[in-house]
Amino acid sequence: MKYFPLLILLAAGAALAAGTARPVDIRLYSLHKLSAIALETEGAVYAEGRLLKGTARVSVKGPGVALDGDLKAGPFKTLRLSAPGGVWMSGPGLPRRRYIGELAFSADKKKLKIVNSVPLEIYIGGVVTGEASDLSQPEAYKAQAVAARTYIIKRFKAHAGEGYNLCDSTHCQLYTGTGNMSKKALAAAEATRGEFLLYKGEPAATFYHSICGGRTEDMTSVWPYESKPYLVSVKDGPPGRPYCAIAPRFQWKTKIYFTGLTRLARSSGWILPDEQALGLRVTRWGPSGRAAELELRTQRRPVKFSATSFYHDVGRRAGWQAVRSTFFRVLAGKDYVLLDGVGNGHGVGMCQWGAEGMARKGFKYREILKHYYPGTETGHD
Ligand SMILES: [Zn+2]
Ligand SMILES: [Zn+2]
Repeated sequence: MKYFPLLILLAAGAALAAGTARPVDIRLYSLHKLSAIALETEGAVYAEGRLLKGTARVSVKGPGVALDGDLKAGPFKTLRLSAPGGVWMSGPGLPRRRYIGELAFSADKKKLKIVNSVPLEIYIGGVVTGEASDLSQPEAYKAQAVAARTYIIKRFKAHAGEGYNLCDSTHCQLYTGTGNMSKKALAAAEATRGEFLLYKGEPAATFYHSICGGRTEDMTSVWPYESKPYLVSVKDGPPGRPYCAIAPRFQWKTKIYFTGLTRLARSSGWILPDEQALGLRVTRWGPSGRAAELELRTQRRPVKFSATSFYHDVGRRAGWQAVRSTFFRVLAGKDYVLLDGVGNGHGVGMCQWGAEGMARKGFKYREILKHYYPGTETGHD
């Protein structure tokens, strides 16, 4: 991952502020329960209009929040900080992160609530930094920036009534500030500023995943949502040479012993506590070639369940690297099964490594987006 020199980032921030930058309100540290946080200034930081220097601390005090340090003040109902030059935040058990823009600290049920108002394109730069860190092509980054921006605009109402647009966890999109912002990601956000992926004039549902394995999946085969004409299975490149074949670990193999399979099947409720898994096979394939339905054999009976729930349950219990997709076949062993698969992720929408592969072949980001979301067009809102 590349790190962005501070001065260039500041210049980019200033350019955005001068342009049509619209701010987006992000709740920070949304998965943590905080009562205080430490601040370290970087460049000019103002607290309630007064210059803040060095370090300070914001903590919950009664129904409000107080500022400790040189500028001891408060409690305030809402403490407003302006950090055009960046401020680092840290605390026990908290990742240390850098944020820029406006910050509002308040108390919510005796816990600290921090909302960061940041220009949309800087936020998109942060999201793309996390999403595209393995990729290298600028056009792939741009495709990712448009997809992320469109995805996010559709989520703006997810926290309606809570006083902010988005949270900083994967519930919305992971945003960890500007401390490790990649230059390519921010440049891609800038280059595609205000651009969305539209279907019949409306923002599209821009799902994406890491590696499709040669063919993307129709959304309705994965989730019980209403079908979308642009979330259909597309072939990812010429026969036998998918665009995403350049991905490290395009192919994978995972051995699952019957003992492990038994534990999984019991905890998922597919079999009873006295049943043992003695085999696994694919009984139905989806239109893209992914496994759709699996059958597990015990000493008493066969049990069927969807490949998607198998993928999710293994992921939740053993990590997402064990079974990386539902694009696999099952080979039988003596006391185990071998899953021989390709791809990584659910397979719906844009294939991120395919976007990288297309960009290496000279495709531009709009062509990449049209390939993965057929019938859509980019446009401004
Ligand atoms: Zn959220
Ligand atoms: Zn692909």
